[in-house]
Amino acid sequence: MTKILLTGATGYIGSHTWLALVDAGFEVVGVDDFSNSAPAVLPRIARLSGREPVFERLDVGDTAALSALVARERIDAAVHFAASKAVGESMEQPLAYFRNNLGGLISTAQALQANGVHCFVFSSSATVYGTPEALPIPESAPLSTANPYGLTKLHGEQLLRELERCDPRWRIAYLRYFNPVGAHESGDIGEDPRGTPNNLMPYVAQVAIGRRERLQVFGGDYPTPDGTGVRDYVHVMDLAEGHVAALRRLLDGADSMTVNLGTGRGHSVLEVVRAYERASGRRVPYDIAPRRPGDVAACYADVGLAARLLGWRARRDLAAMCEDSWRWQSKNPQGYA
Ligand code: UDP
Repeated sequence: MTKILLTGATGYIGSHTWLALVDAGFEVVGVDDFSNSAPAVLPRIARLSGREPVFERLDVGDTAALSALVARERIDAAVHFAASKAVGESMEQPLAYFRNNLGGLISTAQALQANGVHCFVFSSSATVYGTPEALPIPESAPLSTANPYGLTKLHGEQLLRELERCDPRWRIAYLRYFNPVGAHESGDIGEDPRGTPNNLMPYVAQVAIGRRERLQVFGGDYPTPDGTGVRDYVHVMDLAEGHVAALRRLLDGADSMTVNLGTGRGHSVLEVVRAYERASGRRVPYDIAPRRPGDVAACYADVGLAARLLGWRARRDLAAMCEDSWRWQSKNPQGYA
């Protein structure tokens, strides 16, 4: 069986991808330092996958420990999620972001290279497109960044491209995520943000369950149909399956690829609120607040390349995203705690 190293394995996207990989017949070796996730996810992965998780608590910055694990487990390929992801926090602590995200990436690549592993899936982000010039956004669109977090994704890509140029044994999938939301259909694993959620759907979920009073809608005067921001929300299990598809291609010998993972459809903040109210049967009171600095009016993916290269297309719609998020939220009102 093919063995995959999964870094950031207990985080939001990592934990869902773990299940998708097992489902697709891969063996998974997970690592995480629990800097933004909880050990409590592991028994749930065990139950849902029907298999005892192979896991080591480890900071990917510890190249020696990671390299020893890659050797011991005879890893064939890696999916690298381990990174910090809060834009606001990255502006307060840019150096911590550079160190953790870029340092962690370099360390992980070194640990793999030391063991002759050159097959790699990198978590990138639609944030690398900055303010899009045209919609939908193709992979060939110009790249720019507006904050330290975005810079770590853009420079992460650049670093890896230079690595493959110097050593063509590397084959890398650069996956640019749009807005991952929702949860595993079981409602037993999901997104469990620490403190106040930065992102829309977990915030809406906490308003619906009564943990927070009202949503602040950031901006009601954007040049969009209802004046609120438009994003390409993609179900986290679709995203997870996109990783499986990319990994399969690489393991089959495909060249490196840079691919958007989104639905290709934009939804406004108010559309999300209404869909969540329908899914939950709860009210989500909101106020229109000032725009959030750095936000773009609209952002959604050109998904043609994903379909052509990976044979992958997001299957779950906004209603399913909200229903699955609500199942997770209502079964676990306080997250994993
Ligand atoms: N948003 C909002 N209120 C919130 C959080 C987000 O109105 O409490 C809006 C935000 O302005 C954007 C959309 O919801 O238009 C998605 O924001 P999110 O932070 O989830 O993702 P982003 O695309 O900014 O990375």
